[in-house]
Amino acid sequence: MSPVTKRLFVKNYGCQMNVYDGRRMADVLAPLGYTIVPDPEDADLVILNTCHIREKAAEKVYSELGRLAPLKRKRRMLIAVGGCVAQAEGEEVLARAPCVDLVFGPQTYHRLPELIVRAERTRTVDTDFPVEPKFDRLPEQAAPQGIAAYLTAQEGCDRFCAFCVVPYTRGAEYSRPAADVLAEARRLVDAGAREIMLLGQNVNAYHGAGPDGGEWRLDSLIRALGRIDRLERIRYTTSHPADMDDALIAAHGEVEKLMPYLHLPVQSGADRVLARMNRKYRARDYLRIVEKLRAARPDIALASDFIVGHPGETEADFAETLRLVAEVGYASAYSFKYSPRPGTPAADMEDQIPDQVKIERLARLQEAIDRTQTAFNRATVGRIVPVLFDRAGRGALQAAGRSPYLQPVHVDCATPAEALRLHGRIAPVELIVAKQNSLAGRLAYQEAAPA
Ligand code: SAM
Ligand code: SF4
Repeated sequence: MSPVTKRLFVKNYGCQMNVYDGRRMADVLAPLGYTIVPDPEDADLVILNTCHIREKAAEKVYSELGRLAPLKRKRRMLIAVGGCVAQAEGEEVLARAPCVDLVFGPQTYHRLPELIVRAERTRTVDTDFPVEPKFDRLPEQAAPQGIAAYLTAQEGCDRFCAFCVVPYTRGAEYSRPAADVLAEARRLVDAGAREIMLLGQNVNAYHGAGPDGGEWRLDSLIRALGRIDRLERIRYTTSHPADMDDALIAAHGEVEKLMPYLHLPVQSGADRVLARMNRKYRARDYLRIVEKLRAARPDIALASDFIVGHPGETEADFAETLRLVAEVGYASAYSFKYSPRPGTPAADMEDQIPDQVKIERLARLQEAIDRTQTAFNRATVGRIVPVLFDRAGRGALQAAGRSPYLQPVHVDCATPAEALRLHGRIAPVELIVAKQNSLAGRLAYQEAAPA
Protein backbone atom coordinates (compact mmCIF):
# COMPACT_ATOMS: atom_id res chain seq x y z
CA MET A 1 0.00 0.00 0.00
CA SER A 2 1.43 3.40 -0.90
CA PRO A 3 1.73 5.86 1.97
CA VAL A 4 -0.80 8.67 2.40
CA THR A 5 0.22 11.73 0.41
CA LYS A 6 1.25 14.70 2.48
CA ARG A 7 2.42 17.99 1.06
CA LEU A 8 5.84 19.45 1.73
CA PHE A 9 7.11 22.94 0.97
CA VAL A 10 10.85 23.63 1.39
CA LYS A 11 12.32 27.10 1.10
CA ASN A 12 16.11 27.28 0.84
CA TYR A 13 18.16 30.30 1.81
CA GLY A 14 21.86 30.89 1.15
CA CYS A 15 24.38 28.71 -0.64
CA GLN A 16 24.23 25.70 -2.98
CA MET A 17 24.85 23.42 0.01
CA ASN A 18 21.50 24.47 1.38
CA VAL A 19 19.86 23.73 -1.97
CA TYR A 20 21.42 20.24 -1.83
CA ASP A 21 20.34 19.75 1.81
CA GLY A 22 16.80 20.92 0.98
CA ARG A 23 16.56 18.24 -1.72
CA ARG A 24 17.91 15.59 0.64
CA MET A 25 15.30 16.57 3.26
CA ALA A 26 12.64 15.87 0.65
CA ASP A 27 14.32 12.49 -0.07
CA VAL A 28 14.26 11.60 3.65
CA LEU A 29 10.56 12.44 3.85
CA ALA A 30 9.49 10.78 0.58
CA PRO A 31 9.02 7.30 2.16
CA LEU A 32 6.55 8.91 4.59
CA GLY A 33 4.42 10.01 1.66
CA TYR A 34 5.56 13.64 1.45
CA THR A 35 5.57 15.18 -2.00
CA ILE A 36 6.85 18.66 -2.84
CA VAL A 37 4.34 21.45 -3.51
CA PRO A 38 5.34 24.85 -4.87
CA ASP A 39 3.26 26.95 -2.48
CA PRO A 40 3.37 27.03 1.35
CA GLU A 41 -0.40 27.68 1.43
CA ASP A 42 -0.97 24.11 0.21
CA ALA A 43 1.53 22.44 2.50
CA ASP A 44 1.09 20.17 5.54
CA LEU A 45 4.74 20.71 6.43
CA VAL A 46 6.75 23.87 5.71
CA ILE A 47 10.53 23.75 6.13
CA LEU A 48 12.60 26.93 6.06
CA ASN A 49 16.16 25.77 5.39
CA THR A 50 18.07 28.76 6.66
CA CYS A 51 21.42 30.55 6.30
CA HIS A 52 23.23 32.41 9.07
CA ILE A 53 26.25 33.70 7.17
CA ARG A 54 25.14 37.35 7.33
CA GLU A 55 22.61 39.09 9.55
CA LYS A 56 20.38 39.97 6.60
CA ALA A 57 20.11 36.29 5.63
CA ALA A 58 18.99 35.39 9.18
CA GLU A 59 16.48 38.24 9.45
CA LYS A 60 14.77 37.13 6.22
CA VAL A 61 13.74 33.93 8.00
CA TYR A 62 11.88 35.80 10.74
CA SER A 63 10.06 37.91 8.13
CA GLU A 64 9.00 34.72 6.34
CA LEU A 65 7.78 33.23 9.64
CA GLY A 66 5.73 36.41 10.14
CA ARG A 67 4.03 35.70 6.80
CA LEU A 68 3.46 32.02 7.62
CA ALA A 69 1.87 32.57 11.06
CA PRO A 70 -1.55 33.72 9.74
CA LEU A 71 -1.61 30.74 7.30
CA LYS A 72 -1.15 28.37 10.19
CA ARG A 73 -4.06 29.95 12.05
CA LYS A 74 -6.29 29.12 9.06
CA ARG A 75 -5.31 25.45 8.65
CA ARG A 76 -3.36 22.69 10.32
CA MET A 77 0.29 22.67 9.30
CA LEU A 78 3.68 22.05 10.85
CA ILE A 79 6.36 24.71 10.53
CA ALA A 80 10.00 23.66 10.85
CA VAL A 81 13.15 25.80 10.80
CA GLY A 82 16.28 23.93 9.72
CA GLY A 83 19.80 24.89 8.66
CA CYS A 84 22.30 27.30 10.17
CA VAL A 85 19.96 29.84 11.85
CA ALA A 86 18.36 26.89 13.61
CA GLN A 87 21.78 25.62 14.67
CA ALA A 88 22.96 29.02 15.92
CA GLU A 89 19.77 30.17 17.65
CA GLY A 90 18.12 26.91 18.77
CA GLU A 91 15.46 27.60 21.45
CA GLU A 92 15.62 31.30 20.60
CA VAL A 93 13.74 30.56 17.35
CA LEU A 94 10.84 29.07 19.35
CA ALA A 95 10.82 32.12 21.64
CA ARG A 96 10.84 34.63 18.76
CA ALA A 97 8.39 32.78 16.51
CA PRO A 98 5.50 31.06 18.33
CA CYS A 99 4.28 29.48 15.06
CA VAL A 100 7.39 27.24 14.84
CA ASP A 101 6.94 23.58 15.83
CA LEU A 102 10.40 22.19 15.09
CA VAL A 103 13.96 23.53 15.03
CA PHE A 104 16.69 21.25 13.62
CA GLY A 105 20.31 21.81 12.65
CA PRO A 106 22.11 20.94 9.40
CA GLN A 107 23.54 17.74 10.91
CA THR A 108 20.26 16.20 12.06
CA TYR A 109 17.94 16.27 9.08
CA HIS A 110 18.29 12.51 8.53
CA ARG A 111 16.20 12.25 11.73
CA LEU A 112 13.33 14.30 10.27
CA PRO A 113 10.77 11.48 10.28
CA GLU A 114 11.04 10.96 14.07
CA LEU A 115 11.42 14.70 14.74
CA ILE A 116 8.18 15.43 12.93
CA VAL A 117 6.28 12.85 14.95
CA ARG A 118 7.67 14.43 18.13
CA ALA A 119 6.90 17.97 16.95
CA GLU A 120 3.26 17.01 16.34
CA ARG A 121 2.97 16.49 20.11
CA THR A 122 5.34 19.09 21.50
CA ARG A 123 7.57 21.87 20.19
CA THR A 124 10.97 20.30 19.52
CA VAL A 125 14.59 21.42 19.12
CA ASP A 126 17.36 19.13 17.83
CA THR A 127 20.67 20.83 17.13
CA ASP A 128 23.05 18.01 18.05
CA PHE A 129 26.21 17.20 16.17
CA PRO A 130 25.67 13.41 16.06
CA VAL A 131 28.75 11.19 16.19
CA GLU A 132 27.42 9.18 13.29
CA PRO A 133 27.59 11.21 10.09
CA LYS A 134 24.17 11.96 8.62
CA PHE A 135 25.33 10.88 5.15
CA ASP A 136 25.38 7.25 6.37
CA ARG A 137 21.70 7.55 7.27
CA LEU A 138 20.35 9.34 4.21
CA PRO A 139 18.37 7.28 1.70
CA GLU A 140 20.34 6.14 -1.34
CA GLN A 141 17.41 6.92 -3.55
CA ALA A 142 17.37 10.58 -4.45
CA ALA A 143 14.94 12.48 -6.65
CA PRO A 144 16.56 13.27 -10.03
CA GLN A 145 18.17 16.70 -10.08
CA GLY A 146 18.29 17.34 -13.81
CA ILE A 147 21.16 18.08 -16.15
CA ALA A 148 23.45 19.96 -13.74
CA ALA A 149 23.46 18.37 -10.29
CA TYR A 150 24.90 19.23 -6.90
CA LEU A 151 26.70 16.65 -4.80
CA THR A 152 28.03 17.36 -1.30
CA ALA A 153 31.49 15.82 -0.83
CA GLN A 154 32.64 17.74 2.23
CA GLU A 155 30.98 19.63 5.01
CA GLY A 156 31.90 21.87 7.93
CA CYS A 157 35.16 23.71 8.40
CA ASP A 158 38.16 23.80 10.75
CA ARG A 159 39.68 27.03 9.48
CA PHE A 160 37.96 29.48 11.82
CA CYS A 161 38.26 32.65 9.77
CA ALA A 162 37.61 35.48 12.22
CA PHE A 163 34.43 36.70 10.51
CA CYS A 164 32.78 33.35 9.74
CA VAL A 165 30.06 31.44 11.53
CA VAL A 166 30.38 28.21 9.50
CA PRO A 167 32.67 26.25 11.90
CA TYR A 168 30.09 26.88 14.65
CA THR A 169 26.92 26.15 12.67
CA ARG A 170 28.13 23.35 10.38
CA GLY A 171 30.66 21.89 12.78
CA ALA A 172 34.04 20.26 12.23
CA GLU A 173 35.33 19.43 8.78
CA TYR A 174 34.02 16.11 7.47
CA SER A 175 34.78 14.43 4.14
CA ARG A 176 32.52 11.69 2.81
CA PRO A 177 34.24 8.46 1.75
CA ALA A 178 35.16 8.61 -1.94
CA ALA A 179 33.19 5.43 -2.74
CA ASP A 180 29.99 7.06 -1.40
CA VAL A 181 30.53 10.21 -3.44
CA LEU A 182 31.25 8.17 -6.59
CA ALA A 183 28.19 5.97 -6.04
CA GLU A 184 25.97 9.06 -5.65
CA ALA A 185 27.56 10.56 -8.76
CA ARG A 186 26.75 7.42 -10.77
CA ARG A 187 23.14 7.54 -9.58
CA LEU A 188 22.86 11.20 -10.58
CA VAL A 189 24.29 10.43 -14.02
CA ASP A 190 21.89 7.50 -14.45
CA ALA A 191 19.08 9.93 -13.63
CA GLY A 192 20.21 12.32 -16.37
CA ALA A 193 22.95 14.55 -14.91
CA ARG A 194 25.67 15.61 -17.37
CA GLU A 195 27.43 17.97 -14.99
CA ILE A 196 28.24 17.54 -11.31
CA MET A 197 29.20 20.36 -9.00
CA LEU A 198 30.98 18.97 -5.94
CA LEU A 199 30.01 20.99 -2.90
CA GLY A 200 31.59 21.77 0.44
CA GLN A 201 32.03 24.82 2.65
CA ASN A 202 35.72 24.22 2.06
CA VAL A 203 35.61 21.52 -0.59
CA ASN A 204 39.30 21.58 -1.52
CA ALA A 205 40.13 20.52 2.05
CA TYR A 206 38.54 17.19 1.02
CA HIS A 207 40.40 14.22 2.49
CA GLY A 208 37.97 11.31 2.36
CA ALA A 209 38.69 7.63 2.76
CA GLY A 210 39.68 6.24 -0.63
CA PRO A 211 38.39 2.88 -1.93
CA ASP A 212 42.04 1.71 -1.92
CA GLY A 213 42.31 2.17 1.86
CA GLY A 214 44.37 5.37 1.67
CA GLU A 215 43.20 8.95 1.99
CA TRP A 216 42.05 10.71 -1.15
CA ARG A 217 42.42 14.42 -1.71
CA LEU A 218 40.10 16.29 -4.04
CA ASP A 219 42.26 15.76 -7.14
CA SER A 220 41.93 11.95 -6.80
CA LEU A 221 38.18 12.23 -6.39
CA ILE A 222 37.95 14.45 -9.48
CA ARG A 223 40.08 12.06 -11.53
CA ALA A 224 37.81 9.14 -10.53
CA LEU A 225 34.69 11.15 -11.39
CA GLY A 226 36.29 11.90 -14.74
CA ARG A 227 36.15 8.17 -15.53
CA ILE A 228 32.34 7.99 -15.20
CA ASP A 229 30.81 7.56 -18.66
CA ARG A 230 28.22 10.12 -19.71
CA LEU A 231 29.37 12.54 -17.03
CA GLU A 232 30.67 15.38 -19.19
CA ARG A 233 31.49 18.19 -16.78
CA ILE A 234 32.89 18.47 -13.26
CA ARG A 235 33.08 21.58 -11.09
CA TYR A 236 33.66 22.17 -7.39
CA THR A 237 32.94 24.96 -4.95
CA THR A 238 33.91 26.62 -2.57
CA SER A 239 37.65 26.50 -2.01
CA HIS A 240 40.08 28.07 0.42
CA PRO A 241 43.31 29.33 -1.20
CA ALA A 242 45.52 27.70 1.46
CA ASP A 243 44.06 24.27 0.55
CA MET A 244 44.81 24.69 -3.17
CA ASP A 245 47.58 22.09 -3.41
CA ASP A 246 49.76 21.38 -6.46
CA ALA A 247 48.02 18.09 -7.27
CA LEU A 248 44.66 19.87 -7.53
CA ILE A 249 46.17 22.63 -9.64
CA ALA A 250 47.69 19.97 -11.94
CA ALA A 251 44.26 18.31 -12.28
CA HIS A 252 43.01 21.54 -13.88
CA GLY A 253 45.48 20.99 -16.70
CA GLU A 254 44.99 17.23 -17.00
CA VAL A 255 41.34 16.29 -16.41
CA GLU A 256 39.46 17.26 -19.52
CA LYS A 257 36.06 17.09 -17.83
CA LEU A 258 37.12 19.51 -15.10
CA MET A 259 35.75 22.82 -16.32
CA PRO A 260 38.06 25.84 -16.66
CA TYR A 261 36.38 27.78 -13.87
CA LEU A 262 37.33 28.17 -10.23
CA HIS A 263 35.67 30.01 -7.38
CA LEU A 264 38.60 30.82 -5.11
CA PRO A 265 37.57 33.47 -2.57
CA VAL A 266 40.34 35.87 -1.57
CA GLN A 267 38.15 38.09 0.72
CA SER A 268 40.65 41.00 0.75
CA GLY A 269 43.74 42.17 -1.14
CA ALA A 270 45.46 43.60 1.96
CA ASP A 271 47.82 41.47 4.04
CA ARG A 272 46.90 43.35 7.24
CA VAL A 273 43.24 42.50 6.77
CA LEU A 274 43.96 38.91 5.69
CA ALA A 275 45.95 38.41 8.91
CA ARG A 276 43.11 39.78 11.02
CA MET A 277 40.70 37.56 9.15
CA ASN A 278 42.94 34.58 10.06
CA ARG A 279 43.08 33.58 6.40
CA LYS A 280 46.63 32.16 6.60
CA TYR A 281 47.86 33.55 3.25
CA ARG A 282 49.09 36.88 1.91
CA ALA A 283 47.93 38.60 -1.26
CA ARG A 284 51.14 37.51 -3.04
CA ASP A 285 50.54 33.86 -2.07
CA TYR A 286 47.09 34.09 -3.64
CA LEU A 287 48.50 35.68 -6.80
CA ARG A 288 51.09 32.90 -7.00
CA ILE A 289 48.29 30.29 -6.92
CA VAL A 290 46.51 32.19 -9.71
CA GLU A 291 49.72 32.15 -11.72
CA LYS A 292 50.13 28.38 -11.25
CA LEU A 293 46.49 27.76 -12.17
CA ARG A 294 46.92 29.78 -15.34
CA ALA A 295 50.08 27.90 -16.19
CA ALA A 296 48.14 24.63 -15.82
CA ARG A 297 45.02 25.85 -17.61
CA PRO A 298 45.63 29.15 -19.44
CA ASP A 299 41.97 29.93 -20.13
CA ILE A 300 40.74 29.31 -16.56
CA ALA A 301 38.03 31.76 -15.41
CA LEU A 302 38.43 32.90 -11.84
CA ALA A 303 35.75 33.96 -9.39
CA SER A 304 35.98 35.18 -5.82
CA ASP A 305 34.19 36.45 -2.74
CA PHE A 306 35.12 39.72 -1.07
CA ILE A 307 34.25 41.22 2.28
CA VAL A 308 34.43 45.01 2.57
CA GLY A 309 34.64 46.82 5.88
CA HIS A 310 36.10 43.98 7.93
CA PRO A 311 37.11 45.40 11.34
CA GLY A 312 40.27 47.49 10.96
CA GLU A 313 40.11 47.84 7.16
CA THR A 314 41.59 51.21 6.18
CA GLU A 315 41.13 53.11 2.93
CA ALA A 316 44.67 52.03 1.95
CA ASP A 317 43.77 48.37 2.63
CA PHE A 318 40.67 48.71 0.52
CA ALA A 319 42.72 50.24 -2.32
CA GLU A 320 44.83 47.05 -2.28
CA THR A 321 41.68 44.99 -2.75
CA LEU A 322 40.75 47.12 -5.78
CA ARG A 323 44.25 46.60 -7.18
CA LEU A 324 44.00 42.83 -6.76
CA VAL A 325 40.64 42.75 -8.55
CA ALA A 326 42.16 44.51 -11.55
CA GLU A 327 45.28 42.32 -11.49
CA VAL A 328 43.41 39.00 -11.42
CA GLY A 329 40.71 40.09 -13.86
CA TYR A 330 37.85 38.08 -12.35
CA ALA A 331 35.21 36.53 -14.55
CA SER A 332 32.75 37.05 -11.70
CA ALA A 333 32.74 37.74 -7.97
CA TYR A 334 30.44 38.18 -5.02
CA SER A 335 31.05 41.04 -2.62
CA PHE A 336 29.55 41.56 0.81
CA LYS A 337 29.55 44.17 3.52
CA TYR A 338 31.11 42.71 6.65
CA SER A 339 28.30 41.54 8.94
CA PRO A 340 29.24 40.85 12.58
CA ARG A 341 28.17 37.35 13.57
CA PRO A 342 27.67 36.78 17.30
CA GLY A 343 30.27 34.43 18.77
CA THR A 344 32.91 34.99 16.06
CA PRO A 345 36.22 36.75 16.94
CA ALA A 346 35.76 39.61 14.44
CA ALA A 347 32.43 40.59 16.03
CA ASP A 348 34.34 41.49 19.21
CA MET A 349 37.10 43.47 17.50
CA GLU A 350 37.10 47.11 18.51
CA ASP A 351 37.74 48.86 15.22
CA GLN A 352 34.37 48.14 13.57
CA ILE A 353 33.80 50.12 10.37
CA PRO A 354 30.76 52.45 10.12
CA ASP A 355 28.01 51.19 7.83
CA GLN A 356 28.21 54.27 5.59
CA VAL A 357 31.86 53.49 4.83
CA LYS A 358 31.02 49.86 4.08
CA ILE A 359 28.21 50.91 1.71
CA GLU A 360 30.49 53.28 -0.16
CA ARG A 361 33.34 50.73 -0.46
CA LEU A 362 30.94 48.02 -1.58
CA ALA A 363 29.69 50.24 -4.42
CA ARG A 364 33.25 50.96 -5.57
CA LEU A 365 34.23 47.30 -5.38
CA GLN A 366 31.18 46.23 -7.32
CA GLU A 367 32.02 48.72 -10.07
CA ALA A 368 35.55 47.31 -10.27
CA ILE A 369 34.20 43.74 -10.46
CA ASP A 370 31.65 44.73 -13.12
CA ARG A 371 34.51 46.09 -15.23
CA THR A 372 36.58 42.88 -15.10
CA GLN A 373 33.48 40.72 -15.59
CA THR A 374 32.39 42.67 -18.66
CA ALA A 375 35.95 42.54 -20.02
CA PHE A 376 36.06 38.77 -19.49
CA ASN A 377 32.72 38.25 -21.25
CA ARG A 378 33.71 40.55 -24.14
CA ALA A 379 36.97 38.67 -24.63
CA THR A 380 35.02 35.48 -25.30
CA VAL A 381 32.93 37.04 -28.10
CA GLY A 382 33.78 35.47 -31.46
CA ARG A 383 34.82 32.18 -29.87
CA ILE A 384 33.03 28.89 -30.42
CA VAL A 385 32.52 27.15 -27.07
CA PRO A 386 30.62 24.02 -26.01
CA VAL A 387 27.45 25.01 -24.17
CA LEU A 388 25.59 22.60 -21.91
CA PHE A 389 21.91 23.40 -22.39
CA ASP A 390 20.59 22.75 -18.91
CA ARG A 391 17.65 25.10 -18.50
CA ALA A 392 14.65 26.55 -20.28
CA GLY A 393 15.24 29.78 -22.15
CA ARG A 394 12.93 32.78 -22.20
CA GLY A 395 10.07 31.72 -24.44
CA ALA A 396 9.65 28.63 -26.58
CA LEU A 397 12.20 29.74 -29.18
CA GLN A 398 15.13 30.18 -26.82
CA ALA A 399 17.52 27.59 -25.37
CA ALA A 400 19.78 28.45 -22.44
CA GLY A 401 22.80 26.91 -20.81
CA ARG A 402 26.32 27.48 -19.54
CA SER A 403 29.68 27.87 -21.21
CA PRO A 404 32.69 26.02 -19.73
CA TYR A 405 33.42 29.30 -17.89
CA LEU A 406 29.99 29.16 -16.21
CA GLN A 407 28.74 32.11 -18.25
CA PRO A 408 24.99 31.97 -18.89
CA VAL A 409 24.52 31.68 -22.67
CA HIS A 410 21.28 31.85 -24.63
CA VAL A 411 20.60 30.94 -28.22
CA ASP A 412 17.61 31.82 -30.39
CA CYS A 413 16.31 28.77 -32.22
CA ALA A 414 14.40 28.53 -35.49
CA THR A 415 11.64 26.38 -34.01
CA PRO A 416 10.41 25.32 -30.54
CA ALA A 417 11.36 21.74 -31.50
CA GLU A 418 14.97 22.80 -32.03
CA ALA A 419 15.02 24.51 -28.61
CA LEU A 420 13.63 21.35 -27.02
CA ARG A 421 16.14 19.12 -28.83
CA LEU A 422 19.01 21.11 -27.37
CA HIS A 423 17.90 20.56 -23.79
CA GLY A 424 20.36 18.28 -21.99
CA ARG A 425 22.87 18.40 -24.84
CA ILE A 426 26.26 19.99 -25.25
CA ALA A 427 26.48 21.89 -28.53
CA PRO A 428 29.07 24.26 -30.04
CA VAL A 429 27.93 27.87 -29.87
CA GLU A 430 29.52 30.96 -31.34
CA LEU A 431 29.34 33.74 -28.77
CA ILE A 432 28.12 36.89 -30.50
CA VAL A 433 27.00 39.48 -27.91
CA ALA A 434 28.37 40.00 -24.40
CA LYS A 435 26.36 41.61 -21.65
CA GLN A 436 27.61 42.05 -18.13
CA ASN A 437 25.99 38.88 -16.78
CA SER A 438 25.32 36.74 -19.83
CA LEU A 439 26.03 36.17 -23.51
CA ALA A 440 23.99 35.64 -26.63
CA GLY A 441 25.22 33.05 -29.10
CA ARG A 442 24.27 31.13 -32.22
CA LEU A 443 24.60 27.44 -32.88
CA ALA A 444 27.86 26.78 -34.67
CA TYR A 445 26.50 23.84 -36.64
CA GLN A 446 23.56 23.16 -38.89
CA GLU A 447 20.84 20.96 -37.45
CA ALA A 448 20.21 18.07 -39.86
CA ALA A 449 16.84 18.54 -41.56
CA PRO A 450 14.29 16.00 -40.28
CA ALA A 451 13.90 13.07 -42.70
N1 SAM B 1 34.97 28.65 2.49
C1 SAM B 1 34.95 29.79 1.68
C2 SAM B 1 36.26 30.57 1.85
O1 SAM B 1 37.06 30.22 2.68
O2 SAM B 1 36.50 31.54 1.18
C3 SAM B 1 33.80 30.69 2.00
C4 SAM B 1 32.46 30.12 2.27
S1 SAM B 1 31.38 31.23 3.10
C5 SAM B 1 30.16 30.10 3.48
C6 SAM B 1 30.72 32.21 1.77
C7 SAM B 1 31.11 33.66 1.75
O3 SAM B 1 30.33 34.41 2.67
C8 SAM B 1 32.54 33.97 2.17
O4 SAM B 1 33.44 33.75 1.14
C9 SAM B 1 32.50 35.41 2.61
O5 SAM B 1 32.83 36.27 1.55
C10 SAM B 1 31.04 35.59 3.01
N2 SAM B 1 30.95 35.80 4.47
C11 SAM B 1 31.18 34.90 5.42
N3 SAM B 1 31.03 35.48 6.65
C12 SAM B 1 30.67 36.76 6.43
C13 SAM B 1 30.39 37.86 7.28
N4 SAM B 1 30.44 37.75 8.60
N5 SAM B 1 30.06 39.05 6.71
C14 SAM B 1 30.01 39.17 5.37
N6 SAM B 1 30.27 38.16 4.52
C15 SAM B 1 30.60 36.97 5.04
FE1 SF4 C 1 34.20 30.17 6.80
FE2 SF4 C 1 35.42 29.49 4.52
FE3 SF4 C 1 36.84 30.45 6.56
FE4 SF4 C 1 35.76 28.02 6.73
S1 SF4 C 1 37.35 28.68 5.30
S2 SF4 C 1 35.76 29.57 8.32
S3 SF4 C 1 33.85 28.33 5.60
S4 SF4 C 1 35.27 31.53 5.35
